[in-house]
Amino acid sequence: MTNQGITVPGEKLGVEEEFTPSENTFTENGEVYASAVGLVNASGGKVKIENGMNEIRSLGRGSVVIGTVVGALPSVIFVNIDGMKSGTRHYVALKDGKLVMARGGPREQHSRGMEFKPCGMGDLIIARIVRDDEDTYELSLNGEEEGVVFSRCETCSFPLVRGKNDDVLECGRCKHKEGRKISSLYGKTEEVKTFMDKAYR
Ligand SMILES: [Zn+2]
Repeated sequence: MTNQGITVPGEKLGVEEEFTPSENTFTENGEVYASAVGLVNASGGKVKIENGMNEIRSLGRGSVVIGTVVGALPSVIFVNIDGMKSGTRHYVALKDGKLVMARGGPREQHSRGMEFKPCGMGDLIIARIVRDDEDTYELSLNGEEEGVVFSRCETCSFPLVRGKNDDVLECGRCKHKEGRKISSLYGKTEEVKTFMDKAYR
């Protein structure tokens, strides 16, 4: 896992023939690994992790995050969360995100002949961390800006656009439709950037 050059403990950095291990690294069977969260500095034949911990923070409960859907099961959706950078501060996602489908929630009452999923494989989404579990971040999409900000057609890969209804995306090429929890910033790349920058200022 690499987030904007940030390593996590246990991440392989290379082999001893390439670098002499230095600060915050360890070796095992001739391979060099990181032993701290930080930025990799490999120069002059040495490799070290500069961790200035005050500048590296992990994402936690309440954080607004952006990420990509990497797995979608009927009851849970998995999200790969991006790291964020604000000036000299780096925010790292040390875990994967998941969205648990609430049974009987308002979203299940969707009825336009489509199976409703709040987001699907490959979608770019904005979400909020509502629980910081041991191995995952539990996410929610309740806010106005939270939801899918970019999606491609499952059938022909063409980018989807907003349909007539609030919770439908439509393919401009093959007319395929998808039910989604759509962010108010859908398709507005610059506004998505501004929104995320604000959240981490
Ligand atoms: Zn299509």
